[in-house]
Amino acid sequence: SSLNASIIPSEFTNPNLEVLYTAEQIKQRVIQLGQQISQDYAGNKNLVLIGILKGSCIFMADLMRAVDLELIIDFMAVSSYKDGTVSSGDIEILKDLTHPIRGKDVIICEDIVDTGLTLFRLTEILGSRGANSIRVATLLDKPETRKKEIKIDYCGFQVPNKFVVGCGLDAAGRYRNLPFIGVVKNPSL
Ligand code: 5GP
Ligand code: MG
Ligand code: MG
Repeated sequence: SSLNASIIPSEFTNPNLEVLYTAEQIKQRVIQLGQQISQDYAGNKNLVLIGILKGSCIFMADLMRAVDLELIIDFMAVSSYKDGTVSSGDIEILKDLTHPIRGKDVIICEDIVDTGLTLFRLTEILGSRGANSIRVATLLDKPETRKKEIKIDYCGFQVPNKFVVGCGLDAAGRYRNLPFIGVVKNPSL
């Protein structure tokens, strides 16, 4: 049907990228996550999906359309304070929510959980604002590099300890538009 028509080209031509998960695999997996959320929150009219910009933009857009519930969406942008190249764990809020979350059931939508430091701190901040519940949905999980224990409630895929790009994830601003998840073969190109 025309609903299956896609704006996404089936192939991208950059030879410097190795595909880990295709656009089709991602689409199918995100539909499953949406169905799981729809079941888990059935009857709930208090749900807020919070997308963490910019990396979650594609996951968020796909996931919200796969959730068959009344919900609202909001966005935050955060950056982690770094000592040199090492994340200190504290975060700076660059863009805050536009709605209060007191009493709301929140699902934080992330692109990837790496060290877990960003989500750990974000969960503390949103918890202190009186959310009724907070869960985590992430497109990708890189478990090998975790520093803080984070409960991930909805996970798309696990990835190895490599720097991945595409589907919202960037390398110095590039590659967010790729419809697949890939690894840059030669970062200097
Ligand atoms: P954390 O280490 O706090 O769990 O992750 C913080 C952020 O670092 C993620 O939300 C993501 O924006 C970025 N990040 C972590 N690993 C990767 C990766 O492999 N590729 C890209 N593009 N970004 C990553
Ligand atoms: Mg992120
Ligand atoms: Mg980034």
